Amino acid sequence: MGTMVIKYRDGTTEAVNDQPLSSGAQGKIYQTADKTGVVKIYTSGGGDAKRTERIQRLIDQLNPTKDDPYWTEYFTWPEKITVAPAFGYRMRFAGSLKTMDKYIFPKSFNGLKNEEKGWFLGRMAVAIKLASAVQRMSSTGICYPDLSHRNVMVEPFEGKMTLIDCDSVTVPNSIEAEVIGTPWYIAPELWSWGAKTQRIVPTVRSDRHSLATLLYYWLLGLHPLKGKKIHDTTDPMHDDYLLLGPKALYIEDPTDGSNRSPTQTIFARSLGKDLEDLFTAAFVKGLHDPLNRPQPQSWQRALVRTYDRIIPCANPQCYWHSFVALRSGGVVCPVCRTRPAARQLPFVYLLPHNRGKGPDDYNELVKPDSTDNHHIVGWPGRGLYEWHTRIGKEALYIDRHTIPNRTRQAEFEYNQSNGMWALRNIHLPDLRYRDGAGQWQAVGVGTSLALQDKLVLQFGQAPDHYRARIELVTV
Ligand SMILES: [Zn+2]
Repeated sequence: MGTMVIKYRDGTTEAVNDQPLSSGAQGKIYQTADKTGVVKIYTSGGGDAKRTERIQRLIDQLNPTKDDPYWTEYFTWPEKITVAPAFGYRMRFAGSLKTMDKYIFPKSFNGLKNEEKGWFLGRMAVAIKLASAVQRMSSTGICYPDLSHRNVMVEPFEGKMTLIDCDSVTVPNSIEAEVIGTPWYIAPELWSWGAKTQRIVPTVRSDRHSLATLLYYWLLGLHPLKGKKIHDTTDPMHDDYLLLGPKALYIEDPTDGSNRSPTQTIFARSLGKDLEDLFTAAFVKGLHDPLNRPQPQSWQRALVRTYDRIIPCANPQCYWHSFVALRSGGVVCPVCRTRPAARQLPFVYLLPHNRGKGPDDYNELVKPDSTDNHHIVGWPGRGLYEWHTRIGKEALYIDRHTIPNRTRQAEFEYNQSNGMWALRNIHLPDLRYRDGAGQWQAVGVGTSLALQDKLVLQFGQAPDHYRARIELVTV
Protein backbone atom coordinates (compact mmCIF):
# COMPACT_ATOMS: atom_id res chain seq x y z
CA MET A 1 0.00 0.00 0.00
CA GLY A 2 1.38 3.36 -1.00
CA THR A 3 0.64 6.85 0.14
CA MET A 4 -0.89 9.90 -1.46
CA VAL A 5 -0.39 13.52 -0.43
CA ILE A 6 -3.40 15.59 0.55
CA LYS A 7 -3.26 19.34 0.34
CA TYR A 8 -5.39 21.38 2.72
CA ARG A 9 -6.95 24.78 2.16
CA ASP A 10 -4.73 26.28 4.88
CA GLY A 11 -1.63 25.35 2.87
CA THR A 12 -0.55 22.32 4.94
CA THR A 13 -0.14 18.83 3.52
CA GLU A 14 -0.50 15.32 4.91
CA ALA A 15 0.15 11.79 3.66
CA VAL A 16 -2.73 9.29 3.55
CA ASN A 17 -2.79 5.63 2.60
CA ASP A 18 -3.82 5.47 -1.05
CA GLN A 19 -6.20 2.54 -0.53
CA PRO A 20 -9.49 3.96 0.81
CA LEU A 21 -10.94 2.60 4.07
CA SER A 22 -14.41 2.84 2.55
CA SER A 23 -16.21 4.31 -0.40
CA GLY A 24 -19.74 5.59 -0.70
CA ALA A 25 -21.96 7.53 -3.06
CA GLN A 26 -20.50 10.87 -1.95
CA GLY A 27 -16.85 9.91 -2.00
CA LYS A 28 -14.05 7.91 -0.39
CA ILE A 29 -12.55 7.85 3.08
CA TYR A 30 -8.74 7.60 3.44
CA GLN A 31 -6.76 7.08 6.60
CA THR A 32 -3.87 9.40 7.36
CA ALA A 33 -0.44 7.77 7.39
CA ASP A 34 -0.04 8.55 11.12
CA LYS A 35 -3.45 6.89 11.74
CA THR A 36 -4.81 9.79 13.82
CA GLY A 37 -7.26 11.00 11.23
CA VAL A 38 -9.32 10.18 8.18
CA VAL A 39 -9.92 12.30 5.11
CA LYS A 40 -13.14 12.28 3.15
CA ILE A 41 -12.57 13.09 -0.51
CA TYR A 42 -15.73 13.80 -2.47
CA THR A 43 -16.30 12.40 -5.92
CA SER A 44 -16.03 15.03 -8.63
CA GLY A 45 -18.46 17.87 -8.34
CA GLY A 46 -18.77 17.47 -4.57
CA GLY A 47 -16.93 20.65 -3.81
CA ASP A 48 -19.23 23.33 -5.12
CA ALA A 49 -19.12 26.77 -3.51
CA LYS A 50 -22.15 26.05 -1.35
CA ARG A 51 -20.70 22.90 0.21
CA THR A 52 -17.31 24.49 0.68
CA GLU A 53 -18.91 27.33 2.59
CA ARG A 54 -21.02 24.91 4.58
CA ILE A 55 -18.04 22.82 5.72
CA GLN A 56 -15.97 25.91 6.46
CA ARG A 57 -18.75 27.25 8.69
CA LEU A 58 -18.96 23.90 10.49
CA ILE A 59 -15.23 24.16 11.16
CA ASP A 60 -15.07 27.83 12.13
CA GLN A 61 -18.37 28.72 13.75
CA LEU A 62 -20.36 25.66 14.73
CA ASN A 63 -17.73 23.26 16.00
CA PRO A 64 -18.91 21.82 19.36
CA THR A 65 -15.37 20.63 20.14
CA LYS A 66 -13.55 23.84 19.26
CA ASP A 67 -13.39 25.69 22.57
CA ASP A 68 -13.71 22.68 24.81
CA PRO A 69 -11.56 19.59 24.21
CA TYR A 70 -13.80 17.53 26.52
CA TRP A 71 -16.16 17.03 23.59
CA THR A 72 -13.53 15.87 21.09
CA GLU A 73 -14.20 12.14 21.63
CA TYR A 74 -17.97 12.65 21.10
CA PHE A 75 -17.69 13.77 17.47
CA THR A 76 -15.65 13.28 14.35
CA TRP A 77 -16.15 16.91 13.42
CA PRO A 78 -14.66 18.33 10.19
CA GLU A 79 -11.23 19.83 11.01
CA LYS A 80 -9.93 21.25 7.75
CA ILE A 81 -10.85 21.36 4.09
CA THR A 82 -8.82 19.65 1.39
CA VAL A 83 -8.13 21.22 -1.99
CA ALA A 84 -6.11 18.43 -3.64
CA PRO A 85 -6.48 15.84 -5.07
CA ALA A 86 -10.10 17.02 -4.74
CA PHE A 87 -12.49 18.71 -2.36
CA GLY A 88 -12.98 17.03 1.01
CA TYR A 89 -12.17 17.41 4.67
CA ARG A 90 -10.15 15.86 7.46
CA MET A 91 -11.59 14.53 10.71
CA ARG A 92 -10.50 12.52 13.75
CA PHE A 93 -10.23 8.74 13.34
CA ALA A 94 -12.82 6.95 15.48
CA GLY A 95 -10.43 4.09 16.28
CA SER A 96 -11.68 0.56 16.78
CA LEU A 97 -15.28 1.60 17.41
CA LYS A 98 -18.02 -0.11 15.41
CA THR A 99 -21.33 1.28 14.19
CA MET A 100 -24.28 0.66 16.50
CA ASP A 101 -26.06 -1.69 14.09
CA LYS A 102 -23.35 -4.34 14.74
CA TYR A 103 -24.70 -4.61 18.28
CA ILE A 104 -28.41 -4.05 17.60
CA PHE A 105 -29.20 -6.68 15.01
CA PRO A 106 -29.01 -10.28 16.29
CA LYS A 107 -27.30 -11.55 13.15
CA SER A 108 -24.29 -9.27 13.44
CA PHE A 109 -24.29 -9.29 17.27
CA ASN A 110 -24.11 -13.10 17.38
CA GLY A 111 -21.18 -12.97 14.98
CA LEU A 112 -19.09 -10.87 17.38
CA LYS A 113 -16.46 -12.41 19.63
CA ASN A 114 -17.53 -12.63 23.27
CA GLU A 115 -15.10 -9.94 24.36
CA GLU A 116 -16.51 -7.60 21.69
CA LYS A 117 -20.13 -7.90 22.75
CA GLY A 118 -19.88 -5.49 25.64
CA TRP A 119 -22.36 -5.44 28.50
CA PHE A 120 -25.47 -3.59 29.54
CA LEU A 121 -23.54 -1.22 31.82
CA GLY A 122 -21.41 -0.21 28.84
CA ARG A 123 -24.54 0.24 26.73
CA MET A 124 -25.87 2.60 29.35
CA ALA A 125 -22.60 4.58 29.30
CA VAL A 126 -22.89 4.79 25.50
CA ALA A 127 -26.49 5.98 25.84
CA ILE A 128 -25.46 8.74 28.28
CA LYS A 129 -22.77 9.93 25.85
CA LEU A 130 -25.16 9.85 22.90
CA ALA A 131 -27.73 11.96 24.77
CA SER A 132 -24.92 14.30 25.87
CA ALA A 133 -23.66 14.74 22.29
CA VAL A 134 -27.17 15.59 21.08
CA GLN A 135 -27.61 17.96 24.02
CA ARG A 136 -24.29 19.63 23.23
CA MET A 137 -25.39 20.26 19.63
CA SER A 138 -28.97 21.27 20.37
CA SER A 139 -27.83 23.76 23.01
CA THR A 140 -26.19 25.72 20.20
CA GLY A 141 -29.11 25.25 17.79
CA ILE A 142 -27.48 22.52 15.69
CA CYS A 143 -29.68 19.66 14.43
CA TYR A 144 -28.25 16.30 13.55
CA PRO A 145 -31.06 15.01 11.34
CA ASP A 146 -29.36 11.78 10.33
CA LEU A 147 -29.17 10.22 13.79
CA SER A 148 -29.26 6.48 13.13
CA HIS A 149 -27.57 3.22 14.04
CA ARG A 150 -25.17 3.76 11.14
CA ASN A 151 -23.94 7.16 12.27
CA VAL A 152 -23.13 6.35 15.87
CA MET A 153 -19.91 4.45 16.51
CA VAL A 154 -19.63 2.68 19.82
CA GLU A 155 -17.66 0.33 22.04
CA PRO A 156 -20.11 -1.06 24.60
CA PHE A 157 -17.60 -2.52 27.04
CA GLU A 158 -15.78 0.60 28.13
CA GLY A 159 -18.73 2.68 26.97
CA LYS A 160 -17.23 4.74 24.15
CA MET A 161 -19.34 6.65 21.63
CA THR A 162 -18.65 9.01 18.79
CA LEU A 163 -20.93 10.56 16.17
CA ILE A 164 -19.77 10.33 12.59
CA ASP A 165 -20.99 12.00 9.38
CA CYS A 166 -21.18 15.29 11.24
CA ASP A 167 -21.17 17.19 7.93
CA SER A 168 -24.89 16.46 7.59
CA VAL A 169 -25.82 18.70 10.52
CA THR A 170 -28.12 21.63 9.89
CA VAL A 171 -29.02 24.89 11.59
CA PRO A 172 -32.58 26.02 10.82
CA ASN A 173 -32.63 29.23 8.77
CA SER A 174 -28.84 29.20 8.52
CA ILE A 175 -27.38 25.90 7.30
CA GLU A 176 -29.74 24.06 5.02
CA ALA A 177 -30.55 20.40 5.51
CA GLU A 178 -28.97 18.05 2.97
CA VAL A 179 -30.78 14.99 4.31
CA ILE A 180 -33.95 14.53 6.32
CA GLY A 181 -32.68 11.36 7.98
CA THR A 182 -32.68 7.58 7.91
CA PRO A 183 -36.25 6.25 7.51
CA TRP A 184 -36.55 4.36 10.81
CA TYR A 185 -35.55 7.40 12.83
CA ILE A 186 -37.38 10.15 10.98
CA ALA A 187 -39.99 11.91 13.10
CA PRO A 188 -43.62 11.26 12.05
CA GLU A 189 -44.22 14.88 10.98
CA LEU A 190 -41.35 14.73 8.46
CA TRP A 191 -42.91 11.90 6.48
CA SER A 192 -44.79 12.67 3.29
CA TRP A 193 -46.37 10.56 0.61
CA GLY A 194 -46.99 11.48 -2.99
CA ALA A 195 -46.87 15.11 -4.03
CA LYS A 196 -45.18 17.33 -1.48
CA THR A 197 -47.20 20.39 -0.66
CA GLN A 198 -44.55 22.04 1.48
CA ARG A 199 -40.92 21.62 2.23
CA ILE A 200 -40.50 20.09 5.66
CA VAL A 201 -37.20 20.64 7.41
CA PRO A 202 -35.69 18.76 10.34
CA THR A 203 -35.51 20.67 13.62
CA VAL A 204 -34.13 20.04 17.09
CA ARG A 205 -37.62 18.76 17.90
CA SER A 206 -37.53 16.12 15.18
CA ASP A 207 -34.05 15.19 16.44
CA ARG A 208 -35.66 14.41 19.79
CA HIS A 209 -37.78 11.71 18.15
CA SER A 210 -34.70 10.20 16.48
CA LEU A 211 -32.82 10.22 19.78
CA ALA A 212 -35.66 8.50 21.67
CA THR A 213 -36.02 5.89 18.92
CA LEU A 214 -32.31 5.16 18.83
CA LEU A 215 -32.10 4.90 22.63
CA TYR A 216 -35.04 2.48 22.70
CA TYR A 217 -33.46 0.39 19.98
CA TRP A 218 -30.06 0.46 21.67
CA LEU A 219 -31.26 -0.45 25.15
CA LEU A 220 -34.11 -2.84 24.35
CA GLY A 221 -33.27 -4.22 20.91
CA LEU A 222 -36.52 -3.32 19.16
CA HIS A 223 -37.90 -0.49 17.09
CA PRO A 224 -40.47 1.28 19.28
CA LEU A 225 -43.01 1.70 16.48
CA LYS A 226 -42.65 -1.62 14.64
CA GLY A 227 -45.21 -3.92 16.19
CA LYS A 228 -47.72 -6.35 14.74
CA LYS A 229 -49.96 -3.75 13.15
CA ILE A 230 -50.05 -3.73 9.33
CA HIS A 231 -51.53 -0.68 7.67
CA ASP A 232 -51.14 -1.62 4.02
CA THR A 233 -50.86 -5.29 3.04
CA THR A 234 -50.17 -4.60 -0.62
CA ASP A 235 -47.46 -1.93 -0.54
CA PRO A 236 -44.67 -2.30 2.06
CA MET A 237 -43.33 1.20 1.31
CA HIS A 238 -46.71 2.71 1.97
CA ASP A 239 -47.05 0.55 5.07
CA ASP A 240 -43.73 1.91 6.39
CA TYR A 241 -44.86 5.44 5.64
CA LEU A 242 -48.03 4.91 7.68
CA LEU A 243 -46.48 3.08 10.62
CA LEU A 244 -43.56 5.51 11.00
CA GLY A 245 -45.52 8.58 9.92
CA PRO A 246 -49.17 9.54 10.35
CA LYS A 247 -50.36 6.28 11.96
CA ALA A 248 -47.31 5.74 14.20
CA LEU A 249 -48.19 3.92 17.44
CA TYR A 250 -45.85 2.91 20.30
CA ILE A 251 -45.52 -0.86 20.72
CA GLU A 252 -45.88 -0.32 24.48
CA ASP A 253 -48.71 2.22 24.32
CA PRO A 254 -50.42 2.00 27.74
CA THR A 255 -53.97 2.38 26.40
CA ASP A 256 -53.84 1.05 22.84
CA GLY A 257 -52.44 -2.48 22.66
CA SER A 258 -53.06 -2.98 18.95
CA ASN A 259 -49.40 -2.58 17.94
CA ARG A 260 -47.65 -4.85 20.46
CA SER A 261 -44.54 -6.64 19.22
CA PRO A 262 -44.83 -10.42 19.24
CA THR A 263 -41.05 -10.75 19.69
CA GLN A 264 -40.63 -8.36 22.62
CA THR A 265 -39.24 -9.96 25.78
CA ILE A 266 -37.57 -6.98 27.46
CA PHE A 267 -39.83 -4.01 28.12
CA ALA A 268 -39.15 -0.38 28.94
CA ARG A 269 -40.24 -0.98 32.54
CA SER A 270 -37.19 -3.22 33.04
CA LEU A 271 -35.08 -0.03 32.76
CA GLY A 272 -36.88 1.58 35.70
CA LYS A 273 -39.47 4.28 36.03
CA ASP A 274 -37.27 7.22 34.99
CA LEU A 275 -36.61 5.80 31.53
CA GLU A 276 -40.00 4.10 31.16
CA ASP A 277 -41.72 7.45 31.74
CA LEU A 278 -39.51 9.21 29.19
CA PHE A 279 -40.14 6.58 26.53
CA THR A 280 -43.87 6.92 27.18
CA ALA A 281 -43.56 10.70 26.91
CA ALA A 282 -41.62 10.41 23.64
CA PHE A 283 -43.81 7.79 21.97
CA VAL A 284 -47.27 8.60 23.32
CA LYS A 285 -47.67 12.28 24.18
CA GLY A 286 -44.79 13.51 22.03
CA LEU A 287 -45.11 11.11 19.11
CA HIS A 288 -47.34 13.35 17.02
CA ASP A 289 -46.72 16.48 19.07
CA PRO A 290 -43.08 17.59 18.68
CA LEU A 291 -43.36 20.19 21.45
CA ASN A 292 -44.02 17.45 23.99
CA ARG A 293 -40.95 15.35 23.29
CA PRO A 294 -38.38 14.90 26.06
CA GLN A 295 -35.30 17.05 25.60
CA PRO A 296 -31.84 15.47 25.45
CA GLN A 297 -31.14 16.84 28.91
CA SER A 298 -34.04 14.83 30.36
CA TRP A 299 -32.56 11.70 28.79
CA GLN A 300 -29.12 12.49 30.19
CA ARG A 301 -30.52 12.82 33.71
CA ALA A 302 -32.70 9.72 33.53
CA LEU A 303 -29.84 7.65 32.10
CA VAL A 304 -27.39 8.84 34.73
CA ARG A 305 -29.87 8.00 37.49
CA THR A 306 -30.50 4.58 35.99
CA TYR A 307 -26.75 3.95 35.81
CA ASP A 308 -26.68 4.12 39.63
CA ARG A 309 -29.02 1.14 39.84
CA ILE A 310 -27.27 -1.27 37.50
CA ILE A 311 -25.91 -4.37 39.19
CA PRO A 312 -24.03 -7.36 37.73
CA CYS A 313 -26.02 -10.41 36.63
CA ALA A 314 -25.08 -13.52 38.62
CA ASN A 315 -25.35 -15.71 35.53
CA PRO A 316 -21.95 -15.88 33.78
CA GLN A 317 -23.65 -16.90 30.50
CA CYS A 318 -25.92 -13.85 30.44
CA TYR A 319 -25.11 -11.61 27.46
CA TRP A 320 -26.34 -8.48 29.27
CA HIS A 321 -23.92 -9.15 32.18
CA SER A 322 -25.68 -6.47 34.22
CA PHE A 323 -29.18 -5.05 34.63
CA VAL A 324 -31.23 -2.40 36.41
CA ALA A 325 -32.22 -3.49 39.94
CA LEU A 326 -35.90 -2.65 40.33
CA ARG A 327 -37.70 -2.65 43.61
CA SER A 328 -41.13 -3.48 42.27
CA GLY A 329 -41.44 -6.99 40.92
CA GLY A 330 -38.25 -8.23 42.57
CA VAL A 331 -34.63 -7.80 41.63
CA VAL A 332 -34.18 -10.11 38.67
CA CYS A 333 -32.26 -9.92 35.39
CA PRO A 334 -34.87 -9.30 32.64
CA VAL A 335 -32.81 -11.28 30.13
CA CYS A 336 -32.03 -14.53 31.94
CA ARG A 337 -34.30 -14.21 35.03
CA THR A 338 -31.37 -14.82 37.43
CA ARG A 339 -31.57 -13.25 40.89
CA PRO A 340 -28.54 -11.87 42.75
CA ALA A 341 -26.84 -14.10 45.30
CA ALA A 342 -27.23 -11.54 48.12
CA ARG A 343 -30.44 -11.92 50.16
CA GLN A 344 -30.88 -8.17 50.52
CA LEU A 345 -29.70 -5.10 48.63
CA PRO A 346 -29.41 -1.58 50.08
CA PHE A 347 -31.46 1.04 48.22
CA VAL A 348 -30.17 4.48 49.19
CA TYR A 349 -32.80 7.20 48.70
CA LEU A 350 -31.48 10.76 48.52
CA LEU A 351 -33.71 13.13 50.46
CA PRO A 352 -33.93 16.71 49.23
CA HIS A 353 -33.84 19.72 51.54
CA ASN A 354 -36.97 21.85 51.83
CA ARG A 355 -35.37 25.11 50.76
CA GLY A 356 -36.33 28.23 52.66
CA LYS A 357 -37.01 26.44 55.91
CA GLY A 358 -34.72 25.45 58.79
CA PRO A 359 -31.44 23.64 58.14
CA ASP A 360 -32.83 20.39 59.51
CA ASP A 361 -35.92 20.40 57.34
CA TYR A 362 -35.50 17.57 54.84
CA ASN A 363 -38.32 15.80 53.08
CA GLU A 364 -37.91 12.34 54.56
CA LEU A 365 -40.89 10.80 52.84
CA VAL A 366 -39.74 8.11 50.41
CA LYS A 367 -42.04 7.03 47.61
CA PRO A 368 -40.28 3.90 46.35
CA ASP A 369 -41.92 3.70 42.94
CA SER A 370 -41.86 7.38 42.15
CA THR A 371 -39.15 9.22 40.25
CA ASP A 372 -39.08 11.97 42.90
CA ASN A 373 -36.17 10.66 44.93
CA HIS A 374 -33.03 9.64 43.21
CA HIS A 375 -31.84 6.33 44.59
CA ILE A 376 -28.69 4.28 44.30
CA VAL A 377 -28.61 0.53 44.60
CA GLY A 378 -25.68 -0.67 46.68
CA TRP A 379 -23.24 -3.17 45.27
CA PRO A 380 -19.82 -4.22 46.63
CA GLY A 381 -17.32 -1.65 45.41
CA ARG A 382 -19.91 0.82 44.11
CA GLY A 383 -18.92 4.35 45.06
CA LEU A 384 -20.84 7.39 46.13
CA TYR A 385 -19.59 10.61 44.58
CA GLU A 386 -20.04 14.28 45.29
CA TRP A 387 -23.17 14.44 43.12
CA HIS A 388 -24.74 11.86 45.47
CA THR A 389 -23.77 13.63 48.68
CA ARG A 390 -24.04 17.36 47.87
CA ILE A 391 -27.24 18.98 46.69
CA GLY A 392 -26.91 20.69 43.31
CA LYS A 393 -23.75 18.89 42.16
CA GLU A 394 -23.84 17.34 38.71
CA ALA A 395 -22.80 13.88 37.60
CA LEU A 396 -22.67 15.18 34.04
CA TYR A 397 -20.10 17.35 32.43
CA ILE A 398 -21.91 20.52 31.42
CA ASP A 399 -19.05 22.87 30.55
CA ARG A 400 -15.59 23.82 31.73
CA HIS A 401 -17.09 25.48 34.80
CA THR A 402 -19.10 22.43 35.84
CA ILE A 403 -16.74 19.49 35.95
CA PRO A 404 -17.96 16.57 38.08
CA ASN A 405 -15.71 15.75 41.02
CA ARG A 406 -14.79 12.11 40.46
CA THR A 407 -13.26 11.55 43.89
CA ARG A 408 -14.96 8.65 45.66
CA GLN A 409 -16.68 9.89 48.81
CA ALA A 410 -17.89 6.54 50.16
CA GLU A 411 -18.11 2.93 49.06
CA PHE A 412 -20.46 -0.01 49.62
CA GLU A 413 -19.15 -3.15 51.30
CA TYR A 414 -20.77 -6.56 51.60
CA ASN A 415 -19.88 -9.26 54.07
CA GLN A 416 -20.65 -12.56 52.38
CA SER A 417 -20.47 -14.61 55.58
CA ASN A 418 -23.24 -12.77 57.42
CA GLY A 419 -24.99 -11.04 54.49
CA MET A 420 -24.49 -7.59 56.05
CA TRP A 421 -24.01 -4.38 54.10
CA ALA A 422 -21.87 -1.44 55.16
CA LEU A 423 -20.89 1.96 53.84
CA ARG A 424 -17.23 2.87 54.14
CA ASN A 425 -16.53 6.56 54.62
CA ILE A 426 -13.67 7.56 52.33
CA HIS A 427 -13.90 11.32 52.07
CA LEU A 428 -16.84 12.70 54.08
CA PRO A 429 -15.63 14.64 57.16
CA ASP A 430 -19.18 15.24 58.46
CA LEU A 431 -20.90 11.92 57.72
CA ARG A 432 -23.44 11.11 60.45
CA TYR A 433 -26.26 8.67 61.10
CA ARG A 434 -29.30 9.02 63.32
CA ASP A 435 -29.39 6.55 66.19
CA GLY A 436 -32.47 4.96 67.77
CA ALA A 437 -32.82 7.90 70.17
CA GLY A 438 -32.85 10.40 67.29
CA GLN A 439 -29.32 11.64 68.04
CA TRP A 440 -26.77 12.19 65.27
CA GLN A 441 -23.64 10.07 65.55
CA ALA A 442 -20.44 10.71 63.60
CA VAL A 443 -18.96 8.17 61.19
CA GLY A 444 -15.22 8.84 60.93
CA VAL A 445 -13.31 8.91 57.68
CA GLY A 446 -11.82 5.46 57.12
CA THR A 447 -14.49 3.65 59.14
CA SER A 448 -17.49 1.62 57.98
CA LEU A 449 -21.08 1.95 59.06
CA ALA A 450 -23.35 -1.12 59.07
CA LEU A 451 -26.43 -0.43 56.93
CA GLN A 452 -29.70 -1.22 58.70
CA ASP A 453 -33.13 -0.95 57.18
CA LYS A 454 -34.64 2.57 57.59
CA LEU A 455 -31.28 4.03 58.70
CA VAL A 456 -31.03 7.77 58.06
CA LEU A 457 -27.70 9.29 57.02
CA GLN A 458 -26.56 12.87 56.69
CA PHE A 459 -23.70 13.23 54.20
CA GLY A 460 -22.45 16.56 55.57
CA GLN A 461 -23.54 19.98 56.76
CA ALA A 462 -27.17 20.92 56.14
CA PRO A 463 -28.59 22.27 53.92
CA ASP A 464 -25.85 21.76 51.29
CA HIS A 465 -25.66 18.00 51.66
CA TYR A 466 -28.21 15.30 51.10
CA ARG A 467 -29.83 13.33 53.80
CA ALA A 468 -30.42 9.70 52.78
CA ARG A 469 -32.62 6.87 53.86
CA ILE A 470 -31.44 3.29 53.51
CA GLU A 471 -34.00 0.64 52.69
CA LEU A 472 -32.81 -2.94 52.70
CA VAL A 473 -34.82 -4.65 49.99
CA THR A 474 -35.18 -8.42 50.03
CA VAL A 475 -34.40 -9.82 46.61
ZN1 LIG B 1 -28.85 -12.01 33.19
